[in-house]
Amino acid sequence: MPELPEVESLRQILARSIVGRTIVAARIGRLPLRRKSPGNFGARVRGRKIRRVERRAKYLIIDLDGSDVILVHLGMSGSLTCRDADFDSSEFDPRHDHIEFKLDDGNRLVFNDPRRFGIVRVVPRDSLPALKELRGLGPEPLSAGFNPGYLAERARGRKVAIKNLIMDQKIVAGVGNIYASEILFRARVRPTRSAGRLKREELERIAEFTPMILRAAIDGRGTTFRNYRDSEGRPGTFADRLQVYGRAGEKCYQCSSPIKSVTVGQRASFFCPKCQK
Ligand SMILES: [Zn+2]
Repeated sequence: MPELPEVESLRQILARSIVGRTIVAARIGRLPLRRKSPGNFGARVRGRKIRRVERRAKYLIIDLDGSDVILVHLGMSGSLTCRDADFDSSEFDPRHDHIEFKLDDGNRLVFNDPRRFGIVRVVPRDSLPALKELRGLGPEPLSAGFNPGYLAERARGRKVAIKNLIMDQKIVAGVGNIYASEILFRARVRPTRSAGRLKREELERIAEFTPMILRAAIDGRGTTFRNYRDSEGRPGTFADRLQVYGRAGEKCYQCSSPIKSVTVGQRASFFCPKCQK
């Protein structure tokens, strides 16, 4: 499932390839996404120029001129790819290509999602802060709002496992399962520890390593598992740099102890029993 680094990496690619272009037509696939795109979707986006591509947590916000934005969530298996003029325009798979935006440079931006958990909606820009999907999200992990003081305040008195705390979108928006394990390894804290019982310096390390790990993953275009590709068709490279995630039974790169896995909040979690306290 794409996490924040994959979405941010996609945002950066789209910012280079579609900003300034005008949407000349929209085509809707045969099967609806879980949440149906409204019937007037095409009319609302046609003729609109793409001004910016932004991100909040794992949502992409394609900002159009006029009063609307397109809100995109990749769900479990969604992808947003730019197909250039070399693609035959009949190359549209009505089962898995859900929405295609034809752009004024001849390229087409296609949202493909075999499992259909993704979201593509047109909403008024003004309604974004109150939108169910975005309302109540914590600060961005790459922003100044997420810092040791903030994390200490939110951890105080909490019995919840630290891994669950940093994966709680209301605490910090966009830290998912893979990166939570990696952050806690770097911070030398076991994922199962009660958040409220961590020492100040442990919380400081977590707050410090969170943006560092995410930035490194963004630079590597995210982590590729299974068939994930970015919108230029390239796999992410961060998988080669994972220290603990998915490595149960393999040797820790730091101390050679076998990496352990444990279930925290129903998610597989990985840690080194020697490096992490
Ligand atoms: Zn170790």
